[in-house]
Order: sequence, then C-alpha cells, then structure tokens
Amino acid sequence: MSQESNILGLSRDDLLSLIMGFETEPKRASMRVNQLWSWIYCHGISSFDKMTNIDKNLRTELKKVFKISRPNIEKKEVSNDGTTKYLFCLEDQSKIETVFIPEEKRSTLCISSQVGCTLNCSFCYTGTQKLVRNLTSQEIIGQVIAVYDDLDLWKKMKNEGGQSSFFEIITNIVFMGMGEPLLNYEEVKKACNILMDNRGLDFSRRRITLSTAGIVPKIKTAHEEIGCMIAVSLHATENKTRDILVPINKKWNLEQLLSSLRNDVELRNSERVTFEYVMLDRVNDTTEDAHRLVKLLQGLPSKINLIPFNSWTGSQYKRSSPDRIKAFRDIIIKSRLPSPIRRPRGEDIMAACGQLKSSSIKEKASI
Ligand code: SAH
Repeated sequence: MSQESNILGLSRDDLLSLIMGFETEPKRASMRVNQLWSWIYCHGISSFDKMTNIDKNLRTELKKVFKISRPNIEKKEVSNDGTTKYLFCLEDQSKIETVFIPEEKRSTLCISSQVGCTLNCSFCYTGTQKLVRNLTSQEIIGQVIAVYDDLDLWKKMKNEGGQSSFFEIITNIVFMGMGEPLLNYEEVKKACNILMDNRGLDFSRRRITLSTAGIVPKIKTAHEEIGCMIAVSLHATENKTRDILVPINKKWNLEQLLSSLRNDVELRNSERVTFEYVMLDRVNDTTEDAHRLVKLLQGLPSKINLIPFNSWTGSQYKRSSPDRIKAFRDIIIKSRLPSPIRRPRGEDIMAACGQLKSSSIKEKASI
C-alpha cells in the first residue's frame, strides 16, 4: 500500500485545508483547489505531472504526499445488451461492484455504498453476505471515476453540445448496488455533493437516486439535505409479507414508512417517489396485492418500478410469470400511476445485486 494519501473524493473544504499546507494565502489556495478540481473531475487526470497550469515546484511537492487513485478493476463482464458489470478491489482488498446500464434514452451507473449489507432482505443476494464496512466517499466517487476511465468518457464531457450516444456518457447515478446508502449517510452525502458540483461532474440532483429499504428517519434528511431523488424498496403491500422480504419493516413498518413519505418529505415541483417492487412468484404478485398497492400509494406522487426477480442459485424465490407481471401492471396503469416494468438487464452476466462479488468468492474457494 502506498504512503501518499488519496485526494479523490474529498470535499472541496477538505481539499482546501490540505492545500493550505502548501499555499498559505487563502485566495491562492482556493484557486489551486479549483485547478485541481477541474483536472480531476472534468478531465479525469490522475497524475500531477499533467496539471500544466500548476507551478512545477508545487506539483513536485503535492506528488510527494498525495495521489489521485481509483479502485482497481478486478473483473469486468459485458453482457450482450451492453450492460457492463465491474468488480472493484479496494485498498484493503474488499470487493464491491458497480454496473453500467446503457439504454435508448439514458445510461445509468449503479453504484455501491457499503461492502456487504446488514439488512438481510430474503430475496437479495447481497443479503446473504454480512456487512463488512461502510464505503468512504472516496470509494464511492472512485467507482464513478474508474468507470469514466474504463469507458473513456472524459472526452465526451469536453465535447460539449456534440451528439453523444448513451453508450458514451453517464446520464444517471443510482445507489442501487451493494449496501444501504442511508446507513452510510455522511459518506453518501459527501459523494453526492461531489457528483453534483457544477464545476466538476455536474450531475443534476434529479439524476441521482438514493434507493432505500426504508430507513424512515433518514429519508426526510437525505431528501432535504442532498436534494436527490428517493426510491423506496417497497416489495410488499402487507406487513406480514414485508417483514419477511425486507426485515427492516419490523422496525419501521408500512404505515410508518408511508406516513413519513406523505407528511414529512416535502416533494418539489413534479417530483415523485419511486417505489421498487420485485415480482416474486406467488409471494407478492396477486391482483389483490396490486389493488392494495394502488390504495397504499393513493395521493402520494409516485412511480412504481416493477422489477422481475433476478434469480440466484440457492434462492427460495422464483420470478413471477410474464402474465402475472402484466396483469399486475395493468391494474396499476388503470389507477393512473406510472408503472414501467424494468427490463431485466445483463442477465447473462448475473447483473443482479451482489452476484458478481459472490461468484468471484466461490471461484476463489474452488481453486
Ligand atoms: N439497500 C438499498 C439499495 C440496494 S438494492 C435498497 O434496498 O433499496 C437495489 C434494489 O435492487 C432494491 O430495490 C432491491 O430490493 C433490489 N434487488 C435486490 N436483489 C434483487 C434481485 N435478486 N432481483 C430483483 N431485485 C433485487
């Protein structure tokens, strides 16, 4: 492990206090931060030598103590639909995964917020792995930067106004990889602020989505402080089913979750809460469920994402049949709630949550 400390993923304030050690005059220090920020987040530069507008002696000094490093790609799999799944190896050898999903009108990067997870949702593969630790903001941003590097997206950022296909840029970031972002709130918030910085990566708050299993008190805080979009993993319409699928429901049940979304979270203009609903054969996919779902969400500006279950070896669940999914969706559409069925992506590379990491652990175990 190298001695230099990594400045990728530090907040502007943290970076400023480090730079003050080299440039004591506040105006000059803040100019240096702007220069570094632009090299790192607009140009993807990781070597101080290339920062030509920074004084050469200062560059030499900075190089001695700092580095701008990304997580290593341990494995990369490209699905025949273009979905690309990365397994990253962190400095302490922890493994996390990130998935790039190109679509017709947008392309989404799905990132992780923790190594493993504590929530044990019974249909989720990550739930079978225990929580190892929270990711730092540096490791969260590192995933984004490493994918920009790998897909060579930096030149597209500079090519402003030019037509880019959605295979060539990232339009949306979702925290739907491993982990529960609201249980790693401070680091996730730091990372979001870097993503949204308009002199850098410049993602609008509407293009960043935090997905939560329902850490109720933190939803309002995240929505207020970060301002990004919220997705809630609902997955059931009755507490007895949700207690099993999403066990955090025993702490904050459906009534508490929905009441907080209705009364505490102040949605902005035309904003909706996204509800994710995994379609599990004969568990949560009846027409009664669909009607109950519509009733539960009445009056709350919402959008429902029906997700066909991504099966994994050893899972006790099966994906609902296409007929059931369609019937379920029709009931929702009739209620005038928007409800796209999320097309399963990257199935040939097991792109469902947590699967790449676990298959790599198995491969290792069998060597
Ligand atoms: N902890 C957060 C974010 C990570 S999971 C949350 O619970 O929202 C991102 C989404 O993928 C969640 O809606 C989760 O329930 C869903 N998911 C996990 N495993 C899945 C699987 N095997 N098939 C379909 N969706 C899955």
